[in-house]
Amino acid sequence: MKTLISVIVPLYNEEEVIGESYRRLTQVMSSMEEDYELIFVNDGSRDKTFDLARGIQEKDPHVVLVDFSRNFGHQMAVSAGLEQARGDAVVIIDADLQDPPELIPKMVEMWRGGAEVVYGKRASRQGETAFKKLTAFCYYRVLDALSGWKIPKDTGDFRLMDRKVADVLRSMPEHNRFLRGMVSWLGFRQVPLEFVREERFAGTTKYPLKKMLKLASDGIVSFSGKPFGIMRVLGGLLLAAGLVDLLALLIAHAVTGASGGWPYVIAAVLAVGGANLLALGICGVYFERMYDELKGRPLYIVRQVLRSEGPDGQTRT
Ligand code: UDP
Ligand code: MG
Repeated sequence: MKTLISVIVPLYNEEEVIGESYRRLTQVMSSMEEDYELIFVNDGSRDKTFDLARGIQEKDPHVVLVDFSRNFGHQMAVSAGLEQARGDAVVIIDADLQDPPELIPKMVEMWRGGAEVVYGKRASRQGETAFKKLTAFCYYRVLDALSGWKIPKDTGDFRLMDRKVADVLRSMPEHNRFLRGMVSWLGFRQVPLEFVREERFAGTTKYPLKKMLKLASDGIVSFSGKPFGIMRVLGGLLLAAGLVDLLALLIAHAVTGASGGWPYVIAAVLAVGGANLLALGICGVYFERMYDELKGRPLYIVRQVLRSEGPDGQTRT
């Protein structure tokens, strides 16, 4: 059977780009020897996106259309696409052509060469506001400093995944989804493919600041307990400072007879505030564990099990 490549395209109010996006994706995909399916996920668009997508789907058997009852967000749209994808490899790409479809053949070639995840790494961004570039630059660096392992910097969701990877990703039931972090958490052989992020083909961003902040906080909260660690260290330091201060005041009192007044109040505020912060940080250890259990991620991920056959040619169990 021919290899099948699934391409997931989330759509939210993309009436201006869906036609061109479909045209370019089809041009690229039909030039490849592999078979393909395009999975459009209409994420509760309020414009003509659904009607246009429906028109395309009716005419083209390569197209699958998933239609959400309302807007659930980009990460959910991609997750729904993953549920439908039947391909041996699955590609996630934005509808607005900021991720060039022409890179897909190169991703497939790298996959054929043994990569299990090929992620698009933005070498530079075209036509985005200085604010977006700066916040994205800073964010990926903060995430890197806070998260327990390396989430590749400057990568979005534009990537190709092997079927094995897509299956494990689907088995992760967490609600606050930060897919690029989840994929990097999975392990496997992941290789970057650098590209220049183009300008949006038409229309405006569907990621207003509020949605950006939610995604950014999901990235940090789902992948790091370090804020609690910072509380523990800070709390410990304040408590120690308060206690040392108090001790110094008591010694001064014993030696010189100086007594009373606001220095004692400051020492007490430091010590009590520090103790509170430390206690919260310690509670955080338990929160972190509960959250870990709730996320219900797999305990470990097996790429393959290799076992030798016995002397009689039978596989030992
Ligand atoms: N998108 C979506 N649901 C949303 C917001 C965005 O499905 O609630 C889709 C959107 O149609 C596009 C992709 O997610 O295909 C990325 O969105 P956008 O290009 O607006 O984000 P930006 O590139 O500005 O970060
Ligand atoms: Mg975009």
